[in-house]
Amino acid sequence: MSLSLPVATLGTPRIGPRRELKFALEDFWSGVSDEPSLIEAGMALRAANWARQKRLGVTVIPSNDFSFYDQMLDTSVMVGAIPDVYGWKNGPVPLATYFAMARGADGDTTEASCGHAHHGHGVAAQEMTKWFDTNYHYMVPELGRDQQFSLASRKPIEEYEEAKSLGYQTRPVLIGPVTFLKLAKSKEPDFEPLSLLERLLPVYVDVLRELAKRGADWVQIDEPYLVLDLDAAAQAALRSAYAEIAKSVPQIKIMLASYFGALGSNRDTAFGLPVAGLHFDLVRAPEQFSDLAALPRNHVISLGVIDGRNIWRADLNRVLDRLEPVIAALGRDRVQIAPSCSLLHVPIDLGLEEKLDPEIKSWLAFAVQKIEELATLGAALSGGRQSCGAALKESDVAAAARMGSSRIRDAKVAQRIAAIDATQRRRNSPFAKRAEAQHQRFNLPAFPTTTIGSFPQTTAVRNARAAHTRGTLSNAAYKTFLQNETARAIRWQENIGLDVLVHGEFERNDMVQYFGEQFSGFAFTSHGWVQSYGSRYVRPPILFGDVSRPKPMTVEWWQYAQSLTGKPMKAMLTGPVTILNWSFVRDDIPRSEACRQIALAIRDEVHDLEAAGAGMIQIDEAALREGLPLRKSEWKIYLDWAVDSFRICSSGVRDETQIHTHMCYSEFNDIIDAIGAMDADVISIETSRSKMELLDAFRIYKYPNEIGPGVYDIHSPRVPDVLEMKNLLTLARERISDSQLWINPDCGLKTRRWEEVRPALVNMVAAARELRAVP
Ligand code: GLN
Ligand code: ZN
Repeated sequence: MSLSLPVATLGTPRIGPRRELKFALEDFWSGVSDEPSLIEAGMALRAANWARQKRLGVTVIPSNDFSFYDQMLDTSVMVGAIPDVYGWKNGPVPLATYFAMARGADGDTTEASCGHAHHGHGVAAQEMTKWFDTNYHYMVPELGRDQQFSLASRKPIEEYEEAKSLGYQTRPVLIGPVTFLKLAKSKEPDFEPLSLLERLLPVYVDVLRELAKRGADWVQIDEPYLVLDLDAAAQAALRSAYAEIAKSVPQIKIMLASYFGALGSNRDTAFGLPVAGLHFDLVRAPEQFSDLAALPRNHVISLGVIDGRNIWRADLNRVLDRLEPVIAALGRDRVQIAPSCSLLHVPIDLGLEEKLDPEIKSWLAFAVQKIEELATLGAALSGGRQSCGAALKESDVAAAARMGSSRIRDAKVAQRIAAIDATQRRRNSPFAKRAEAQHQRFNLPAFPTTTIGSFPQTTAVRNARAAHTRGTLSNAAYKTFLQNETARAIRWQENIGLDVLVHGEFERNDMVQYFGEQFSGFAFTSHGWVQSYGSRYVRPPILFGDVSRPKPMTVEWWQYAQSLTGKPMKAMLTGPVTILNWSFVRDDIPRSEACRQIALAIRDEVHDLEAAGAGMIQIDEAALREGLPLRKSEWKIYLDWAVDSFRICSSGVRDETQIHTHMCYSEFNDIIDAIGAMDADVISIETSRSKMELLDAFRIYKYPNEIGPGVYDIHSPRVPDVLEMKNLLTLARERISDSQLWINPDCGLKTRRWEEVRPALVNMVAAARELRAVP
């Protein structure tokens, strides 16, 4: 019998199959439970996780992949990078300090309506941002020149020991020192956190020594920064970090993990590091297969061949075809089988999906199923394919069934995609001419006021929706309820004097799901939760087939809303790029093509809205920026198709139909060409916290179309007063012309309460009026 190949997972979801972690945290935060019960819940989750992996055949089981909130926050705490405001001096870090860093001292965390995360103002939480190109958000370490490091939390050591006492020899996971420093933000201008490396390393050395003392032989160190463009300083930092570690803790073997892309230009640096093993993401970057032969003979190679970022079942025989010759060449004693990255980014167990269409279900694999696939690969590679014939057969059948299914292909969609020509990708007239037609049609005052779309999703709204989903509220009663909410919101907007109204989006559960549920080609899960940040999880839709729109999705609601007012009612849609970026996307066609399909479906809706009389149609592209590739060299390709998709869905309407778009982030400098190319008549953006500075990008670009820079930070419960908004508008007018300027909040208002929204919007309208009176 040949030696069995090691099977690793790199990291697993920590939230529990039934969101146990979320409920334990929320009970603790709300005072329903105490600290010992939270700690116990964490231990139970870890124990279950280790047991599950062992049962499923994992031989290289990770520890320290658990976290109560976030692994970057854990790392900050581990090394004692705890800003003074949290009041920690030395000794063990209390849980209260940890959660203060995560959520602010009074626990007020808010979430943007787009699902990406923000913290409220005045709350001393750490900043949060996206983890590479995932929808996971980490807490950004904050470092200054005088930062000292010490081993402040022994979590990796404790969790290693905890596993050991349960009978598991684990491979602890740490975030690497270079990635940690590169992702940190500087407290001071002209200060580069990477310069703290020398001071930081002794803490890593301490941790590794302590682990070694307790019996750890291997430690996984994640340096995903290795797949980004690294300058000479960062490359040098990697060399000195791992040289120092190798010198100081030679008894520990390091598995250095890169993922989310190829090492690319960092290959030689990575290959030269004195580590015992390297992990490669061979799903995102299969071209790395051909690099493997160049590795120094003594390295152990972790082959990341099962997709840790998507939910499709693998075609195992095809993976084996690829692996067998590679392993034959490398030698089977130096390879491990692994997912492409930690399984943190996929839902836990497909087995829980009782309502999912069985055909679609048979094409999917969540973390549990992915681990089974890894185990099958490991077995097939050691005992031969015939030793796991049944599992491979099943995989074959599923792959063939998916590719052959009539559910994924729609000839009409293919025909339409093929037939898209230049005229469908541009408006009939240039902006100047359209603007004239629109101004005549709407005759709005100077500095028109509007909002971004949603109004507060109150408990009443959420309860009604839940009751409707449960079946305890009839369709008719639910509809009447929503109509009343809508009518009330419209009356209120009229009363306070907003110029362009919205219907409030009360009927929508989520800006992507609402549309996904009405398209063909999308499926939804019941338990497919993935951590977005802290205790916030999302259930991304699954885009499995060609997309089309069987019937109008929003026209009726728009008609109802417009029937209640003489003011223009903006119709509200989510754009194709955003729908794509917030979904699990099929892997059998390029993302660009899937996006164009969604664009055509949205285009149909745009045309139906126009035919029904809608004069203003907003197409939100909240997540356009999020989709940017990790490497700058790939940006243009992405932006080209993203812009193309937006143009497809927004063209083909008359000049006097005004297309709005909305984006909720505050960096435009490097994508301003793309924004210009989208050619929306009006774009609303998030600016209030950047003091309008990001309008500089529009000024320098000489952006000609209209712009609504947000004057009201909707991420905070604070109500801005008239003067504050006027001051922001003054800053805006220094950068763009009055004729371009719209007045609106930063984003949708669905996460706010009416008590905050009412006075804020009243003030906003007052600010606009004062501007009009004294221009
Ligand atoms: N129209 C959406 C809303 O107001 C836009 C949200 C977003 O782009 N994040 O909720
Ligand atoms: Zn927004």
